[in-house]
Amino acid sequence: MTANRNKGEVALDLQSVVRTYRQASGSLEVLRGASLTLRAGEIVALVGPSGAGKSTLLHVAGLLEKPDGGSVQVDGRPAENLDDGERTRLRRDTIGFVYQFHHLLPEFSAVENVMIPQMVAGVSRAAARTRARTLLDRVGLLPREGHRPARLSGGEQQRVAIMRALANDPRVLLADEPTGNLDHTTGDLVMGELVGLVRDTGLAALVATHNLELARRMDRIVELRDGLLVPYAA
Ligand code: ADP
Ligand code: MG
Repeated sequence: MTANRNKGEVALDLQSVVRTYRQASGSLEVLRGASLTLRAGEIVALVGPSGAGKSTLLHVAGLLEKPDGGSVQVDGRPAENLDDGERTRLRRDTIGFVYQFHHLLPEFSAVENVMIPQMVAGVSRAAARTRARTLLDRVGLLPREGHRPARLSGGEQQRVAIMRALANDPRVLLADEPTGNLDHTTGDLVMGELVGLVRDTGLAALVATHNLELARRMDRIVELRDGLLVPYAA
């Protein structure tokens, strides 16, 4: 499906990341020096109670939010001191993001949803379609390629969203409770597929989840506690 990465290379490096939100009640220090090194071929679960800062951490790691302190490196490239255009390009070239809700474009078919990010990155329509169909086939969705999201089941929508995140062959996959909207059985299946895809491609993945059973299938579990990332101790 994609070239295998050099396993063990650092794909994502967060060092002492600080993120503070200013709220009416004062400032809220959500991340207080969170550090994490993620290597190619590694899939790491991110746990922590609601409000712990999991989404914030994923947004900072995914170059969607700037940290107030510390450093973020993706694929060996520091994200500090980049202008907005350079950040956008680095994000597009290296990061795939999956949300709890699929956020597929409702007016476009499944295959088009997987083609669009490739075409935005400059891939021809024909090549984008070929790759999109290969990706959809990988999760058994080729028969549904022409369906719009509303005609897909929740599990199918999320599978398309995962393949869209992989469309540009990212180095790092970030997933924010990707099975949180699915029933238990479907969530298990989709997470199993996600783990399989990561293992096959040698990407690095960080997956926020509330489901410890699913988290235990990953290589390791880190917990956000008081704004710091610590190894999860059951
Ligand atoms: P989690 O994903 O673990 O549930 P979040 O990262 O969404 O946690 O949120 C962590 C804390 O930061 C919460 O208290 C939340 O209310 C606050 N927060 C998140 N985003 C913002 C924002 N844009 N502005 C102000 N506060 C925010
Ligand atoms: Mg969240």
